[in-house]
Amino acid sequence: MNSCVFCKIVGGEIPKKFDYVDDEIVAFPDINPLRPIHILIIPKAHIEDFFHADKETIFAISSAIKKLIDKKKLMGKGYKVTVNGGGAQEVGHLHFHLIAPVGRATTE
Ligand code: AMP
Ligand code: ZN
Repeated sequence: MNSCVFCKIVGGEIPKKFDYVDDEIVAFPDINPLRPIHILIIPKAHIEDFFHADKETIFAISSAIKKLIDKKKLMGKGYKVTVNGGGAQEVGHLHFHLIAPVGRATTE
């Protein structure tokens, strides 16, 4: 049995309103947002982390992020895209964070 929380979200076992969905990717709001806009972009397939993703997956995630930036009108507002790792990745299913608005020097 797959106990991965993000696989449960992909499978509809944990209901979510998706901000974006296509054949490979879904995006949904982070349950604990750091900014007014905090969206998680994930592959539907269970891929452990950034370094296990192939280039097609990375490209699909990047395209989804660009669409979300347009949809949420983030150009000029300041956003950041982050991937945690090295012990800072809490959920073991690859995900990118899209966080906005942020100032230029924000690193947190
Ligand atoms: P990290 O693995 O550290 O990059 O962060 C995992 C992120 O997933 C955190 O920001 C959590 O708030 C978020 N998260 C965990 N469970 C859920 C959930 N059920 N729905 C939405 N976001 C979640
Ligand atoms: Zn998973």
